[in-house]
Amino acid sequence: MSKAYDIALENLTGAGARATVKPAPLPLRGISDAPADAKSFYIETFGCQMNDHDTEKVEGLLLARGYQAVATPAQASLVLYNTCSIREKAAQKVFSRIGDWKTLADGKIVGVLGCVAQQEGEDIFERAPWVSLVCGSASYTKLPDLLDQVEAGNKRVTGLSLDIDETFETELTRRDNRYRAYITIIEGCDYSCSYCVVPKTRGPERSRRSDSVLDEARRLADSGFTEIQLLGQTVNSYRDPSPRGMDFVGLLRAIADVPGVRRVRFTTSHPNDFHQGIIDAIDEVPALCDHIHLPVQSGSTRILKAMRRTYTRDEYLEKIAAIRAARRPISLTSDMIVGFPGETEDDFQDTLTLLAASQYDGVYSFKYSPRPNTPALSMDDAIPEEEKSRRLAALMDHQRQIQIARNDALIGQSFEVHVDGHNPQKKIWGGRTSCNRLLNFTSPLDTLLGTYVSVRVTRAGANSLFGEHAV
Ligand code: SF4
Repeated sequence: MSKAYDIALENLTGAGARATVKPAPLPLRGISDAPADAKSFYIETFGCQMNDHDTEKVEGLLLARGYQAVATPAQASLVLYNTCSIREKAAQKVFSRIGDWKTLADGKIVGVLGCVAQQEGEDIFERAPWVSLVCGSASYTKLPDLLDQVEAGNKRVTGLSLDIDETFETELTRRDNRYRAYITIIEGCDYSCSYCVVPKTRGPERSRRSDSVLDEARRLADSGFTEIQLLGQTVNSYRDPSPRGMDFVGLLRAIADVPGVRRVRFTTSHPNDFHQGIIDAIDEVPALCDHIHLPVQSGSTRILKAMRRTYTRDEYLEKIAAIRAARRPISLTSDMIVGFPGETEDDFQDTLTLLAASQYDGVYSFKYSPRPNTPALSMDDAIPEEEKSRRLAALMDHQRQIQIARNDALIGQSFEVHVDGHNPQKKIWGGRTSCNRLLNFTSPLDTLLGTYVSVRVTRAGANSLFGEHAV
């Protein structure tokens, strides 16, 4: 998997952006040197933000059952891998981790959660007989029952049903980020992009009731969180299943109204469900962050059709034009795949011209990687690996120039930064602007973590900004 620019991206298909200034670590509540006979757990998470947040909920569930978190898998009585199969390399890494326990499991319970669990199912028990729990994310609501069975000594426990209409909610969620809290509002996906495993691993689309989402937002605000990010594979397809029947924009506005909430973000939006009402809401409600992540995947209508993306290049560009016409400048980021089967040089050039037309503030770009059980797997005309690499490098170079120019234009402007990182040796603070740019800065003050400060940009790179705290 190749990741291009990370100015602002924490999308659902790649690793999140990395701050130059490391975010302050959150003390792990419940982490301990558990006595040998205590119930203890260790979870390693792969992949997207949805997975990260699922892990936070699984951790909450385990803490509520009396488990203690420990710092290494060797210390844990229960070792879980929350997995990702969106790219081949991520799936391979999981099997390498599981292999570590072949001779060492020795009474430990080893479990596989997430997309690889759903995709490989009971075959995991054949490949790794020391694994005793295999559970896909669509079945997380059954985890308490499954854990009962595992704790009772059952050696092959599975949760692999996709026929589930509930969303995964827990009484207690452990929060690994102390400044930005995640709330999943919709799970699964009803689209069927030809390269994507998600509909098969996360199941059909299920929205969460608006009262439950709002209750969680209020609880988070009461406990001190000021920034909330709504998550969903197609977050803007949200449809409230309760009689209230809120749409996505109604929910955005309601969350922004929760006392104490100062910033609201959302990822990932599907272009098909993206409409003027979302832009109007951002224009009207200052708490809604001025950043939209709108994955396009290709600039060629022919390839978009082969990908089953449900929109054309021109339709996508109309949405970009609407975003650019907003009263409030909105930063825009996207995902791109190069080397999809049958992608010609002309198609690739269409992708480059779309980059120029869209003027993204950041792009996650990937080489196409064939995934099991997807229609694209059997498509002819695979693009050779070296050609994919050439196209990826060309795309990244093109986008880098765009980002340098866009960030340079911000020098001299001031932004409100939510401070989430500090490097005491270098005396540098770091945080995010509302438009989700990473802005590192100096300040004469020494207690800024978690606060919002005004920072004037003095320098710009392709992936971050640098500035001075305007005290
Ligand atoms: S919209 Fe397409 S790419 Fe996104 S999760 Fe659904 S099927 Fe996958």
